[in-house]
Amino acid sequence: MWNIFTERLRQGSRTIAWPDGPAPQLDPRWRGAPVIDRARCASECEACAEACPTEAITLGGERAVVDLGRCLFCTDCEAACPSGAVSYGREFSLAAREREALFREGEVVAKAQALDLASRKLFGRSLKLRQVSAGGCNACEADVNVLGTIGWDLGRFGIQFVASPRHADGLLITGPVSQHMELALKTAWEAIPAPKLVIAVGACAISGGPFRDHPEVLNGASSVVPVDLFIPGCPPHPLTTLDGLLRLLGRLG
Ligand code: SF4
Ligand code: SF4
Repeated sequence: MWNIFTERLRQGSRTIAWPDGPAPQLDPRWRGAPVIDRARCASECEACAEACPTEAITLGGERAVVDLGRCLFCTDCEAACPSGAVSYGREFSLAAREREALFREGEVVAKAQALDLASRKLFGRSLKLRQVSAGGCNACEADVNVLGTIGWDLGRFGIQFVASPRHADGLLITGPVSQHMELALKTAWEAIPAPKLVIAVGACAISGGPFRDHPEVLNGASSVVPVDLFIPGCPPHPLTTLDGLLRLLGRLG
């Protein structure tokens, strides 16, 4: 017992300091939003847009728009570009309240808006979520699960996952919503007492991701339930998900 106690003291706190302290160091291989420097593009070249597996890139004149709701952060656009015009940002704060806000040019600047005051009073210090896995590859669930570990300690913000939608304030949805999951998702949403929140995590839940337009999928959560927060990524880094949740609750400036 004494050994356990001293070892515990020796190790100290293993939970990240953020948001009160600095954010954890992101791996050098981690990629934020793709940034296309149009000034460096070869004329008439659309190689990046043609290479993109989810048609996330729209080029027009001097503009290059990337739909972060479709982006898989896969580097195919970077590899296809003959001019080195594609790079990746290092910003982890990528979540948005509106789907349209995920169509972005350059480094991301806009941050997700907080809920209104009444909703913040209701959910700001205690938010119970029911997770629904609606047909994805399981990577989004795995990285949401990371938030429950001692390194992240999601519970310190009053955010917890519960087993029943009847005990929840909202849904956290992953996956593109397969035909088979439509009824289950609708039923879970209806079982949550109003007012309620819906959070779509990952490219699949936002747009269908790599499964977009497959006849067996519904191209994301918005096709079934109203979404309050979109968290892009494939999968989103736990820091991106935590940042989105805290911004939604008005707990980040
Ligand atoms: S990173 Fe991949 S999915 Fe995203 S814009 Fe580039 S090619 Fe498309
Ligand atoms: S968004 Fe990417 S990581 Fe998440 S479920 Fe879909 S394919 Fe998997």
